[in-house]
Amino acid sequence: MALKNPILIVGGGLGGLTAALALARHGQPVRVLEGAPSFGAIGYGIQFGPNVFHVFDRIGVSDAVLEKADSPPALLMLDALNGGEVTRVPTGSSFRSRFKYPYIIIHRIDLHNALLDACRRDPLITLVPDAMVTRFDDQGDSVTVTTEDGRSFEGAALIGADGIRSRTRAQLLNDGDPQPNGFMGFRTIVPMGDVTADVQREIVALWGGPGFHIVHCPLRHGTLFNIVAVFRRSTHSERGDVAAYRAELEHAYRNAHPTMKALLAMLDLSRRQAVGDRDPIRHWHRGRVVLLGDAAHPTLQSLAQGGCMAIEDGLCRRGRRLRGGLPTV
Ligand SMILES: Cc1cc2nc3c(=O)[nH]c(=O)nc-3n(C[C@H](O)[C@H](O)[C@H](O)COP(=O)(O)OP(=O)(O)OC[C@H]3O[C@@H](n4cnc5c(N)ncnc54)[C@H](O)[C@@H]3O)c2cc1C
Repeated sequence: MALKNPILIVGGGLGGLTAALALARHGQPVRVLEGAPSFGAIGYGIQFGPNVFHVFDRIGVSDAVLEKADSPPALLMLDALNGGEVTRVPTGSSFRSRFKYPYIIIHRIDLHNALLDACRRDPLITLVPDAMVTRFDDQGDSVTVTTEDGRSFEGAALIGADGIRSRTRAQLLNDGDPQPNGFMGFRTIVPMGDVTADVQREIVALWGGPGFHIVHCPLRHGTLFNIVAVFRRSTHSERGDVAAYRAELEHAYRNAHPTMKALLAMLDLSRRQAVGDRDPIRHWHRGRVVLLGDAAHPTLQSLAQGGCMAIEDGLCRRGRRLRGGLPTV
């Protein structure tokens, strides 16, 4: 039975929007509070294993996602020093018949839009942009959140889907900031026609080396090419300019295969991202407040499962309920 008050979700990322759809599909009103001025995603590629489709089917977005996604014929791991093939995982028809669903790569903007469009069509979901939540108060029979600009929203329960720097988690657990793990990343998308490196363009490739790797894959039906370069650097907390970042990359990848160096030359070096991590925690909820996705269990990008798991967390399973009638997520 649906609760009269909406359930509040802090964060309109992959996990938050999925939770909103899952709850609304059970007849539960939801209010999603997003801190950014508008709902959206930073535009890079994301890979999903077939596990994510169990959720997409249940919230009714599989077709919309598949329409925008590419299914590579293989995942390839290459030795970053000599270019040799380490392993190849075929992801074509045999993979699909074993796992029932494909392995996909999709532009984050396209994925976000598929979830957002479904949310906008559902009258039980209210999307509130520009609502940076600063604190919550759990009154026992309801929860109130307050935003940076002084608004407050009341709900039956609160889901903190506010990412690795979750304020909901900070208040719930007070376990500090995520810790940089010493790795830095650059991400770039270029038109496929501009790719100068001699690489296999239709597959997902990971070039792995000591303290550095590069992942690349096609996007938007082979029209775009996505490159991610991640490397370890002791100066990860220092800010630099493009020239400094270029020097840093050249040093980190000095022993890399020439093809990797050609890929590095295509990177946009204007923005680099530090990779953060947190220690695992045993409990993700207290009272009427629960965490999901990166707020609960940030996952290193090298697993390519953090987004999958945020989406899986977002699915509300019928029949499992917390004391007091709150649906579990
Ligand atoms: C380089 C890189 C590559 C990756 N590749 C993959 C991949 O291939 N496959 C995969 O499955 N995963 C991948 N991941 C991991 C994946 O991106 C994350 O695990 C996923 O985005 C987590 O989703 P989320 O909804 O929990 O949090 P987020 O996506 O971080 O969303 C949180 C949302 O909350 C909002 N917010 C934050 N604070 C507040 C607040 N106080 N009030 C209101 N709103 C707030 C934010 O604006 C944001 O919209 C990758 C990560 C990185 C860094």
